[in-house]
Amino acid sequence: MSTSNKSYGFGSVCVMEMDGLPKNFHPHGLPIYANSTFSFETVEEGVEAFKDPKNSYIYTRWNNPTIAAAERKLAQLEANGLTDKNNEPLKLYGRLFSSGMGAISSLFIGALDKGDKILAHGSLYGGTEELFNSVLPKMGIEVLIRDLKDLDETEKIINDNPEIKLLYLESPSNPTLDCYDIQALAKMAKLHDIQVGIDNTVSTPYLQQPFRLGVDYVVHSTTKFLNGHGTAIGGALIAKDADFLEKKAWDTIKLLGSNCNAFDAWLLYNGMMTLELRMERHCSNAQKVAEFLDDHKKVNKVNYLGLPAHPDHELAKTQMNAFGGLLSFELSGGMQAGIDFLNSVEFCTFAVSLGTASTLVSHPASMTHMGLSPDKRAEYGINDGLIRMSVGIENVEDIIEDLKNAL
Ligand SMILES: *Cc1c(COP(=O)(O)O)cnc(C)c1O
Repeated sequence: MSTSNKSYGFGSVCVMEMDGLPKNFHPHGLPIYANSTFSFETVEEGVEAFKDPKNSYIYTRWNNPTIAAAERKLAQLEANGLTDKNNEPLKLYGRLFSSGMGAISSLFIGALDKGDKILAHGSLYGGTEELFNSVLPKMGIEVLIRDLKDLDETEKIINDNPEIKLLYLESPSNPTLDCYDIQALAKMAKLHDIQVGIDNTVSTPYLQQPFRLGVDYVVHSTTKFLNGHGTAIGGALIAKDADFLEKKAWDTIKLLGSNCNAFDAWLLYNGMMTLELRMERHCSNAQKVAEFLDDHKKVNKVNYLGLPAHPDHELAKTQMNAFGGLLSFELSGGMQAGIDFLNSVEFCTFAVSLGTASTLVSHPASMTHMGLSPDKRAEYGINDGLIRMSVGIENVEDIIEDLKNAL
């Protein structure tokens, strides 16, 4: 609609688009397309768009250019430097969701049918475990939680349960940083026609590229290191199979309405620009903090993959580029020591979540994992004095000084 050289009523001017803005300009950064719908010049153009809705811009719950740009950047990061069977650069496809849980639930809804089973390990992200216990059973999907570090036992479970259609991993997992042998498990799964999905939130593609190790799907909570600044909730599902993503995963976005919004996608897109720099600093700071804690007399144990004493240090070296920004440690004084410590930190922030520029500390036994029975907590290595720490990108001396004082 042209708005020049005509006079319209006040209410019409309130509503209409403005003419006379330059058409041919090139913003240096990605704009936020904060619109719900997209217009067509002609009916023919509209018909073409509806013939190929996956690759057209019609309605933002379906597709949006800001969201698409962030999806492409993340998929390209997961594929960076990898090749396919024919030695061509690996092509991956991504979709963003309203949250990490949106992406995780869409993977299960998209990839599985009633009667299928998922095989997973313990100590998964709390929301995922709740989804397994409360939502998936209603859809007729059963989850087997087993010790996937024992490969012989895993093979036996797979042989005994032909209904297993998806192997689901989180490596490293939280808060004890357990790693699973992604390549060996993916190879075993392939022999039985089982698909493999992994939550790569804690590593990001900078530290670990699971597609190199044979997985079919990667999910992320982009809320964490990928956004990096704690400014938005978001999730992503990345796959090799464009059909899966554009049919089954897209259906959950379109029909269950778990789409990302343009502003959060824009924050993610900008956050990813500094991912490499931030991750380098997260890793080097975490290594120094872990070594400091390891030497401290009030600390019984430090769980950090960069310490040679961590049981998965060697495995992590084979599948990760560095050891990440996440660690946990056990205070010798138990529950009360944990509470006293968190009440004493000043520089570090007392909060759940992880992957923000600032250092976050939390106490799983009284917070994120309070819902688990003491037995389950013990099984997952979450003792009452365990502190989880997401080491930020500040000057490491200030983090260590704060810990020294709080301890
Ligand atoms: C935070 C988190 C999730 C859930 O992500 P949301 O964005 O909060 O929905 C899933 N997996 C891991 C490993 C997480 O840290």
